Amino acid sequence: MKNLYGESIKDLEEYFLSINEKKYKAIQVFEALYRSKVKNILDISNIKKTVRDDLNRDYFLGELKLLKEEKDLEVIKYLFELRDGQAIEAVLMKHDYGNSVCISTQVGCNMACSFCESGRTAKIRNLSTEEMVEQVLLVEEYLGERISHVVVMGIGEPFDNYDNLIKFIDIINHPKGLAIGARHITVSTCGIIPRIKDFSNLAYQVNLAISLHAPNDELRTKLMPINKAYPLKELMSALKEYQAKTNRRITFEYIMLEGINDSQELALELVNLVKDLNCYINLIPYNETSHFTYKRTKNKAVMAFYDIIKKNKLNVTIRREFGTKISAACGQLRTKKEEL
Ligand code: SAH
Repeated sequence: MKNLYGESIKDLEEYFLSINEKKYKAIQVFEALYRSKVKNILDISNIKKTVRDDLNRDYFLGELKLLKEEKDLEVIKYLFELRDGQAIEAVLMKHDYGNSVCISTQVGCNMACSFCESGRTAKIRNLSTEEMVEQVLLVEEYLGERISHVVVMGIGEPFDNYDNLIKFIDIINHPKGLAIGARHITVSTCGIIPRIKDFSNLAYQVNLAISLHAPNDELRTKLMPINKAYPLKELMSALKEYQAKTNRRITFEYIMLEGINDSQELALELVNLVKDLNCYINLIPYNETSHFTYKRTKNKAVMAFYDIIKKNKLNVTIRREFGTKISAACGQLRTKKEEL
């Protein structure tokens, strides 16, 4: 038995053909699941009863359970329990342009970034496609409003779970399903080069964000061990290739850590590193956590850093803060659960 939320249109077409049914029923299933939002396979009323019974024999629907919900003004954080008892989190952010949900892709993470809660626990397992799809569906259901944007920036490294990620995008993007536009989907990676290359060849116009956090190898390797395997020169050249193929603007995320990566010299180094790319730099106030000694950069120093980038005519923004009160940074709610 498989979870129906993990099936793409193509999977369902194959399934229907295998039981001697017409493949257009795949679209009908998508409409029932993602438009009518049925919660039980036997309620898929646009398909005749005998086929519904077949579906019900071969599939089940839904497996995530809400453990906890924390609300702030414009953020709601959800902790979900998976079938095997593991916990992951998704975060809803209300923007003026719509509702955006940040989803997790793994239980734990192997990237071991020195400032990140999620990296404190090694990866336990990848999330399946259906576990990603369900995060979006459940957040939408609890909120009672449409989700227009998805950011893949929760627990885990999405490019370390590539196939499940791509199928997830396929499902939520499908016009007969949730129809979340590719341009409204952003995948954030610490920079796994072979997958950036694969991503360049995708037909989708999905946004790519790179967690950069330092403009030179020495510092970046200290903060992000992945930089040893994929150093900046190679990363930048992969991104140039990505841009040549897709023509998409790249986002660089840069967490501001006091006294570590926030000096004015480093701001200039950053400008020089990325200036040949069509990109924008997102400066992120660090969410302090009890497990690391890193401090967030004070506003004045953030502004000085920002000004240098701006003066050099690059696009730069300072991320609006969401959810510091409710520990919304990557992995923080899950960690709290372990401490209960
Ligand atoms: N592994 C992916 C996606 C998950 S992390 C990646 O590296 O991009 C999502 C973003 O949150 C990354 O930019 C990460 O560096 C950042 N992040 C992690 N811990 C944080 C914290 N305590 N405060 C602010 N941002 C944090």
